[in-house]
Amino acid sequence: MAIGLQAEPSEGVAGKKRWAMVVDLRRCIGCMACVAACKAEYDVPLGVWRTTVKVKDLGQYPNTKRQFMPRLCNHCDNPPCVRNCPTEATYKHEEGYVLQRYERCIACRTCMAACPYNARHVLPNNRTRVKIGGVVDKCTFCEHRVSNGLVPACVQTCIGRTRIFGDLNDANSEVRKLVAQKAVAVLKPEKGTKPQVYYIQPSQKITDQMSSPPASYAAKADAEAFYRHNKGRQFFGGVL
Ligand code: SF4
Ligand code: SF4
Repeated sequence: MAIGLQAEPSEGVAGKKRWAMVVDLRRCIGCMACVAACKAEYDVPLGVWRTTVKVKDLGQYPNTKRQFMPRLCNHCDNPPCVRNCPTEATYKHEEGYVLQRYERCIACRTCMAACPYNARHVLPNNRTRVKIGGVVDKCTFCEHRVSNGLVPACVQTCIGRTRIFGDLNDANSEVRKLVAQKAVAVLKPEKGTKPQVYYIQPSQKITDQMSSPPASYAAKADAEAFYRHNKGRQFFGGVL
């Protein structure tokens, strides 16, 4: 079936894919390999991210803990970014991806304002390798890789096997079993967005703290590099 502009999610439809990611917070070591892999896969410019890993030190000495939390677009089943895009440049694919049509995007940033997860950014115009710029961009769940039988670049490179990707409609998939058997949570469920990124074992305290700024130290380092190389220029938004 062709890609639909505002396709309904394929919830529980046998024979249809329903792509989702499970992020096991017990396993993340904060190596940022996923962030680097994503940057390389898409030539993601300095200052913006499709995915990042937030870092938070919790507790008081000697009972301290460093918590890592990978963040990306949640490929929501009820995405406010899609509902609010005036040109239908962003849309829900029937297999679950929330994607961008760059040629329709007028960079009005309505989708950025509508997204409760700050998962979108504007691509700068002065890119060197990939010429797409001046439009809004975000994580695609690596649709170009997944449709060719691969997993997303961040999943491929995750040495901790923190990020697990698969088809929720496949009863034998690892994601289906994990979502069914583990205590999983999604970010900001009260927003009604129905995220398709599921976290294993986040405590409410951690989720609350990690859902808001400050950004990860990788993001901070990236921002500093951006300013070093772009004197006088401003960020393009999208700090996850
Ligand atoms: S996380 Fe934000 S950008 Fe991604 S689908 Fe949900 S509302 Fe849209
Ligand atoms: S690659 Fe895996 S372990 Fe490393 S930071 Fe990313 S999610 Fe965590």
